[in-house]
Amino acid sequence: MSSNHPSRLIKDVTCPFCSLLCDDLSVKNEANKLSVTAHGCARAIRNFERHEPTVAAAIHGERVSIDAAIKHAASILSRAKQALFAGSSTDVAGSRELMALAEKSGAIIDHVHGDGMMNNTLVLQNRGWIMTTLTELKNRADLIIFIGTDAVSHYPRFFERFIWNQSSLAGLKKNARDIVYIGDELNTRAGIHPGGRRPAHIKCTKKEMNETIAIIRALLNDTRIQSDNIRPRKLSSLKKLVERIRSAQYGVIIWDAGEFAPTDGDIIIQSICDLVKELNQHSRFSGLSLGGNNGGTSFMNVCAWQSGFPLRVSYHENRIDYDPHTFSTKNILHEKAADALLWLSSFDTSLAVPRTALPTIVLSRPAKRPAHEAEVYIPLGTPGIDHSGNLLRTDNVVSLPLKKLREIDLYEGSAILRRIRQAM
Ligand code: SF4
Repeated sequence: MSSNHPSRLIKDVTCPFCSLLCDDLSVKNEANKLSVTAHGCARAIRNFERHEPTVAAAIHGERVSIDAAIKHAASILSRAKQALFAGSSTDVAGSRELMALAEKSGAIIDHVHGDGMMNNTLVLQNRGWIMTTLTELKNRADLIIFIGTDAVSHYPRFFERFIWNQSSLAGLKKNARDIVYIGDELNTRAGIHPGGRRPAHIKCTKKEMNETIAIIRALLNDTRIQSDNIRPRKLSSLKKLVERIRSAQYGVIIWDAGEFAPTDGDIIIQSICDLVKELNQHSRFSGLSLGGNNGGTSFMNVCAWQSGFPLRVSYHENRIDYDPHTFSTKNILHEKAADALLWLSSFDTSLAVPRTALPTIVLSRPAKRPAHEAEVYIPLGTPGIDHSGNLLRTDNVVSLPLKKLREIDLYEGSAILRRIRQAM
């Protein structure tokens, strides 16, 4: 075994397990077993070093050849009057093939993080926004305000990579940033300055979020505030924040659309974006939206390139329809508006296949109990471990290459999707 697979250290590996796409990992391959030797967070280590269970393609839980599984999947989609494609977690090549298969099947297509991405898209479409990139954040931001997110819960190396101890191309002193959190149930430990200074934390529930942003805007505009309903301590913290905002050279407000409810997330994001626009009348401020894990940013972009619309779309009756509310996975399943489901999940084995009695095709990274709900199950390799590929980073401006790190008998998602389409 070891003579066939000599030990090697692979440097500058891109990690696909959150949308930060850290590209500085070192991974050792010894006898085809991977270990992260530098720069991996706990999530990266867990995923790169995971021992993939041996599972085969199956129909109704019975092991079959890959050809038989592909043929059966194609027959389900050919028979379906309205298929639903959900999960949609894959790389750029997989996303392109999934869109092509959706077009051929007349399917509705959504992503596992469709709710959050939709909240952002609605705001961008309706009013526009002023946004920055992770690189600008790292090099210029002297005031960073997190609204409703702590970043690290979903993007573990966020502070390590972009906030603390970073040398700046724009002359910003190391660790000279002020950090402010607005929200509750946030992990604020990462926001403690390396010298020990604690971040400011203005507590407010998700329900109070919009009102809190409105108070900041009112204070900035010197509007008189009726303070009976606002806790004095909170008002005093908001006044301090407004003073700091006024002195900022380059402020950034960060949110994660997936952490707001689908019902009013777009309204909160709209308020944040309006605040950013107002701040730009006198100083320099930008927004930065985090999100797009599980290949979400890539899938959203590919959907726009190939269909002309962002998520969510339908190819029913050879026509493209865009409707981000109606075409949600939850809504389509609740309304019983589909008669077949294709679930695609290439990265995160904890994502659950929706519970449904529909004929279901599951294409996923191998799991110990291989998708017992599936009529057809095909195990897939992981982009960035089992095959090369590309993903787009959360800030939408950089596409990172993924490397193949080991030899394993698992299929590439884009190839399987292409073969299903060709078999229809
Ligand atoms: S922060 Fe995200 S991209 Fe970076 S190593 Fe951890 S899981 Fe991978």
